[in-house]
Parts: sequence; C-alpha cells; structure tokens
Amino acid sequence: MKKLALHWQILLGMAAGVVFALILTNFSWGAEFVSDWIKPFGNIFINALKLIAVPLILASLIKGISDLKDISKLSKMGTRTIVTYIFTTVIAVSIGLGMVNLIQPGNTITEDTRQDLLTSYEGDASGIQLNAEKQKEAGPLQALEDLVPSNIFAAAGDNANMLQVIFFAIFFAIGLILIPEKTAKPVKDFFDGFNEVILKMIDLIMLAAPYGVFALLAALVVESPSTDLFAALAMYALTVLIGLALMIGVYVLLVWIFTKNTPSFFINGIAPAQLLAFSTSSSAATLPVTMERVEEHMGVHREVTSFVLPIGATINMDGTSLYQAVAAVFIAQAFGMDLSLGAQLGIIATATLASIGSAAVPGAGMVMLVIVLAQAGIPEAGLALIFAVDRPLDMCRTMVNVTGDAAVSLMVAKSVDKMGEPNVKNWDDNYPEEDKK
Ligand code: ASP
Repeated sequence: MKKLALHWQILLGMAAGVVFALILTNFSWGAEFVSDWIKPFGNIFINALKLIAVPLILASLIKGISDLKDISKLSKMGTRTIVTYIFTTVIAVSIGLGMVNLIQPGNTITEDTRQDLLTSYEGDASGIQLNAEKQKEAGPLQALEDLVPSNIFAAAGDNANMLQVIFFAIFFAIGLILIPEKTAKPVKDFFDGFNEVILKMIDLIMLAAPYGVFALLAALVVESPSTDLFAALAMYALTVLIGLALMIGVYVLLVWIFTKNTPSFFINGIAPAQLLAFSTSSSAATLPVTMERVEEHMGVHREVTSFVLPIGATINMDGTSLYQAVAAVFIAQAFGMDLSLGAQLGIIATATLASIGSAAVPGAGMVMLVIVLAQAGIPEAGLALIFAVDRPLDMCRTMVNVTGDAAVSLMVAKSVDKMGEPNVKNWDDNYPEEDKK
C-alpha cells in the first residue's frame, strides 16, 4: 500500500484530535482527562521541536555560511533577504488595511456587544498591556543592542534569544572563512556531521507528528472559551482570514513568477510545515521542519535555507503584520474613530516594525499590537474586543508567517543561483535493509 503523504497524515491527526475532544466534552470527566492524559503528549512534541532549534541554527548556519567561502556573497544574500522580507511585509499590511477598510467589520459591532466584550476580557487585555510596557519603554537602538549577546551559553540557553544565536553563528562562520582552509576543515566537517544528525532527528520527530497534532488540537478544543461571543466577532475574523488567504496567493504567485516553480510544487513542499505552524501557533517551534522541507523537498541549497529561514522565523511575520493592521483599524471602527489616511500610513510603518519585533511564539503578535495601537492613538483597552478569537487567528497567521519565510527563501535562492533538485531523505535511509521491517 502506498504510504499516505505526510500532510495528509497530519491533517488526519488534527481532525481526529478535534472529533475526539468534541466527543469527550460530553462527559463530565472529559476535559480533565484530555488535560491530564492527552495534552502532555502535545507539549512533549512541541518541546522536542524546540529542543533542536538552537543546535540546528548553530550547526546549519556555521556550515552554510562558511560554504559561501566569500564574505561578499554573504552580504549580497543578506541584503536581498532583508529587502524581500520588508517588501512582503509591506504587501501584507497593505492587504490587511485594504480588507478592513473594504469590509468595515468594526461597524457591525453593537454598543451592547462592545460593552460585553470589554468587561469580559478587560483583565486579559490589561495583562497583555503590561507585557508590552517593556517594549514601549525601549530606546530606538535597543533592538540592535539586544542582537549582540554577552555570553553565548546564556544566549543559547533561551529559545527567545534566537537572533543572538544567529548573530554568533554568522560571526563564527565569518571567522571560519578567514582562517586557512586546512585549519578550518575539521571544524567545518564537525558542524556538517552535527547538522546531518540534527536533520535526522527532525525526521524522527516528524514520525510522531500526526499524534503530536492530535494531542495539541484535542487540548485546544477542550480549553477553548465559550463560543457565545465568537459570532459577534465573525466579521472581524473573516476579514483577517480573507487577508491571510490572499497573502498565501501572493506567495504562490511570487514563487511562480520569480522561480518558475508551480503552485502545487510549492504548496505540497511546504504543507506539513504549514500544518505544524497551525497546530503549534509558533514559527520558532516549526522552524526545524520548515528548514527540512525547503531544503530537502524543494531543493534550496543549505547556504540559503540556513541563513534565510532562521532569520525569517524571527523577523518576517507577514501574517502577524496583516492581522495587526486589521485589528488596529477594527478596534478604531468599533470605538467609532475615523482614522485619517496619515494614521493608516503610520500603521503600515508600525505594523511592519511590530511584526519584526514579535517573538515567534503563540500570542506574541497581540502583545506587539499594543504598540501599533498606541502609535495610532487607538484605545489600548480595545484589545479586549478581539481577545476571544485571538488563538484561532494566531494559528492561521502563524501558517502565513511560515509560508512567507519559505517563499522568500526560494526567491533568494533563485536570485543567487542556489536552487537544486529536491533530495528527500527518510529517517531510515541508511538503516540496513534487513532491519527495516
Ligand atoms: N504566533 C506567531 C508566530 O509564532 C506570532 C504571532 O503572531 O503571535 O509566528
């Protein structure tokens, strides 16, 4: 029997998780059972993915960049990557603004619902505001200052410091390029082998993916809050979803135009990473899988994936910026504010920067939304209005974030002539034939 493609297996796992949880919620003990006996497996799966993020970035970036052999190639690739990331983010924010002005979901909220939402989620909203205080107080060069760690082990000890680890790896690789080939070789060989091991670990973790997403979705279903207020927010959620769907279309088109790869090649290649992004709401947790898919299933050379994707996971969040634009204008509409063209243009700039500053973890986009609201003079308490549907929208925007990183890496790879043929490796490729059964 032909084995089901990975994305179908994951989809089945997700659907089974939802159905299972829906059935169990009919029993008084159901929710507790899922939290105690199912959810931990989802957490274990996410932890396993996160576990390999730092070693993967270190090994693959050091290997990838030192293979470039020439620092000018690095700066060429770096400039293209950053410019393309900013380009796609500005498109995303513009789509968001276009949609929210067209559909005007904020005008569908009645005064009663607004009061209901504000009182129900007031506490949650102020928690998020508090979280954003630190970012608000930061000076203009804080982000640059944070880029350089004072201790690599401390930096590597926290997944939130991904950019610092990236900085160290690039710096190390530049040093490696500049020392004599003979001395550099054993170091490169070490990181090469190390990287292979990590990639194999990803293959092994992915064997558990259908079960992992089963547990994650089952836990989400039993924990989801009452759905009464969902309906009131349906137009808002729909606006975000239409925007996100359009953005996926933009990527498919960009990839087609710039790299001549067909939509089905791109979507089939990236689908498992998209589904994981949806299930985990974290581009950081999905990063190892995104890297594996783009490299092995789409044929992008490691020099490009190792550089473009980890940076993308941390700074390129098109889905998040699109959502921030829609949410900001929606809140303004619901409060009866009229935003001038100038204020909307300001949102393009702040949402672009806020998405760069958002961490690649669940809910981070909402924290940075506070800054967009503050800049545009929209009441921050309005966060309470959108809280109820944030998690499902987070899942969808994370999918777009990951797709955007993959699309840009294909485009950059094409422009620096680093596209090859897909070379899919299975977990048991080197396993002796007779033991495979
Ligand atoms: N969850 C998103 C991500 O990890 C960030 C966000 O929009 O909250 O990509």
